[in-house]
Amino acid sequence: MSSLSNSSMAYVDEGRYCRCGNEALLKTSWTELNTGRRFLTCRISKKMGGCNYFLWYEN
Ligand SMILES: [Zn+2]
Repeated sequence: MSSLSNSSMAYVDEGRYCRCGNEALLKTSWTELNTGRRFLTCRISKKMGGCNYFLWYEN
């Protein structure tokens, strides 16, 4: 028996775009207050001219 699962990888829902128009990056927070909490952020770093987009990913 074999069962295929697509749930092992996390993908950002369609429509989650930062203000640059790029697909937002899904990251996991490891700060003391928000351990394991996921958030969406701009894939371009602020230093490289990114938009500094930030949104908690509640799912
Ligand atoms: Zn951006």
